[in-house]
Amino acid sequence: MTQHNIKDSDLFRQQCFINGQWCDAEGGATLDVDNPATGEIIGTVPRMAEEGTRQAIAAADNALPAWRDKTAEERGKLLYAWYELMMAHQDDLATIMTLEQGKPFAESKGEIAYAASFLKWFAEEARRAYGNTIPGARPGQRIVVIKQPIGVTAAITPWNFPSSMITRKAGAALAAGCTMVVKPASATPYSALALGELATRAGIPAGVINVITGSAAAISTTITQSPVVRKVSFTGSTEVGSQLMAQCAEHIQKVSLELGGNAPFIVFDDADLDKAVEGAIASKFRNTGQTCVCVNRFLVQDGVHDAFVEKLAAAINQLKVGDGFEDGVTQAPLINQGAVKKVIEHIEDAKSKGAKVVLGGAAHERGGNFVQPTLITGATQDMEFCHEETFGPLAAVIRFQDEQEAIQLANDTPFGLASYFYSENIHRVWRVAEALEAGMVGINEGLISNAAAPFGGVKESGLGREGSHYGMEEYLEAKYLCMG
Ligand code: NAD
Repeated sequence: MTQHNIKDSDLFRQQCFINGQWCDAEGGATLDVDNPATGEIIGTVPRMAEEGTRQAIAAADNALPAWRDKTAEERGKLLYAWYELMMAHQDDLATIMTLEQGKPFAESKGEIAYAASFLKWFAEEARRAYGNTIPGARPGQRIVVIKQPIGVTAAITPWNFPSSMITRKAGAALAAGCTMVVKPASATPYSALALGELATRAGIPAGVINVITGSAAAISTTITQSPVVRKVSFTGSTEVGSQLMAQCAEHIQKVSLELGGNAPFIVFDDADLDKAVEGAIASKFRNTGQTCVCVNRFLVQDGVHDAFVEKLAAAINQLKVGDGFEDGVTQAPLINQGAVKKVIEHIEDAKSKGAKVVLGGAAHERGGNFVQPTLITGATQDMEFCHEETFGPLAAVIRFQDEQEAIQLANDTPFGLASYFYSENIHRVWRVAEALEAGMVGINEGLISNAAAPFGGVKESGLGREGSHYGMEEYLEAKYLCMG
């Protein structure tokens, strides 16, 4: 396949995983998958459509009664075995991820550990699907609430976190007693298929989790037209999320949507600037700027503006661009040419409206999907990047004067996923944390993702939460028993 060695070659699967079997698409249609660093085709996967999707849904439906009836402890043990296998094969899984997604190998290893952590966390949480008892309305009456799995579920996931966006959903679903059909992004199917292989090895019964690749429109339409599927969990763009939500209306399928963001990162005059720069690099340049919780707008107070820009420029200068398999690389290629075009457009738009380029500002000399890490100052809220996710290595700095202005600028977006701010003043910390319209706020912290914490957004960034006990609730129904 490539020069990169995958020790356990059975982890590199080029077929879909339905009912515990590896299978091809109807008619044998396939899709090519490439390496974004080289453009080289690394393999193919089936281009499934309606028929394959119906088979996967039927498999999940058949597997549901036995899976739901297992004790929570039994399900937890199987999830834990799946977690252990992911960690045992961390290098192979990371190699597959860097090959198809491009991210630096060290980041891929980090993502595998993060992805596995959801399986471990939900393996433990499976036992805590508590209901409750409520005093009745009449003498002798009891109100009892039990929690039951919602049933067959579906997950549609993006390319930027090919493994963790699946385990964050599947861990919660399987712990709750649901079964699942997963459709990964077409750019990164192999990480998903490897998870199918490891689920089998862990002893998770056939049909409990199924992975199908292919036509996004045909697969999602079949999922949303099926009354058997009771919940659809989607991570991706707001545009597609909104379409899916409309499709889910037909059968009143429950939806969770983890969508786009436009995170502000506010640096106040009273911030610890070194800490702020460290957080800025982590939250802006991780995955080469292709994360949904990435900073899209730096808002920096007048008094520290120049000092912050100087320190940030020095830190950006340390970043190394290259193939994710090269030693020391921190900035890998973007996923495709469309992504490169968007970053360049945002830079050009900002320049045309008066921004100044401090570093970078163009495609990288390596060509292909590489872009220079870029820092611009003098940015203003009328620039395109303030209204759309850039999804690339562009750090743009807007100067502000006072706290009220910072909050107004931060909230001036239809999105509300992550936000960040740096301040050493406890009164300001509370005021600003409460005023920011976002599902998640990093306070003197640039890395906020964790299996134990509820991840999700407000406004057009989505509905529902993933991770933590809130994440498992999404896969449970509350049933009220009225005992007379
Ligand atoms: P995308 O919306 O293009 O694709 C996501 C998934 O939807 C893929 O599996 C894709 O094949 C599928 N899809 C595409 N068109 C579809 C259609 N018409 N009907 C049904 N499914 C369709 O997003 P992407 O480019 O893969 O991912 C990047 C986006 O995901 C960014 O906006 C990012 O912010 C967001 N994201 C959000 C989170 C979060 O937790 N909030 C996490 C990661 C990524």
